[in-house]
Amino acid sequence: MKIAVLSESPVDEAFIKIIVGAILKKQVENITTHSLQSRGWQALLQVTPAVIRNLYYKTEAEALAIVVDSDETLIHSQLHEQDEKTNSNCRLCGLRRIIKNTQDKITVMPNRAMIKTAVGLAVPAMEAWYRCGLDAQVNEATWVRASNEKKFPYTKQKLKIDAYGSDRAGISLMTRCAVEAANRLANDLTEIEKLFPGGFGSFARDVRGW
Ligand SMILES: [Zn+2]
Repeated sequence: MKIAVLSESPVDEAFIKIIVGAILKKQVENITTHSLQSRGWQALLQVTPAVIRNLYYKTEAEALAIVVDSDETLIHSQLHEQDEKTNSNCRLCGLRRIIKNTQDKITVMPNRAMIKTAVGLAVPAMEAWYRCGLDAQVNEATWVRASNEKKFPYTKQKLKIDAYGSDRAGISLMTRCAVEAANRLANDLTEIEKLFPGGFGSFARDVRGW
């Protein structure tokens, strides 16, 4: 299956491609249409409509997987899907709205199916997913509790150090670590779905719907 992956860094994109293949239980080929630079959440939000249009009109991609970091924003919950008022601070829901608006405006071409999409929210950052199963503290429930109590057992910086051995690792080392984590988690996705039900569970459900 030909897919495109969009996230905040090329390191994350290497991880996501492997995970999508594991969810689908089939080979995926990553079509890159955008420049692979590290980008923040706002930049990713802005580039999403153009990426979707480009994939639809100019490539053979069937699907787009997008994953963003939550940082300190709201964790996605299935309740958001029933009541829009509950999700204004949820990045996952925000991205879904942008995707829908973009797709609604696309001029449908004959024999070209709409780009399927999946949106994930890494809480608080992708490195938390890389640490899943290795550090018992790292999961969405702990993060929610910590957010309420304003006492965080880990930070984004600590997750980076734990995932890469340093918070200043180069891109090739970071990619190697991300791929290693993806291959480990790909063997059995039940744990990451259980520990990250909002951001990862929702992503996996989207992908299974393709
Ligand atoms: Zn949401």
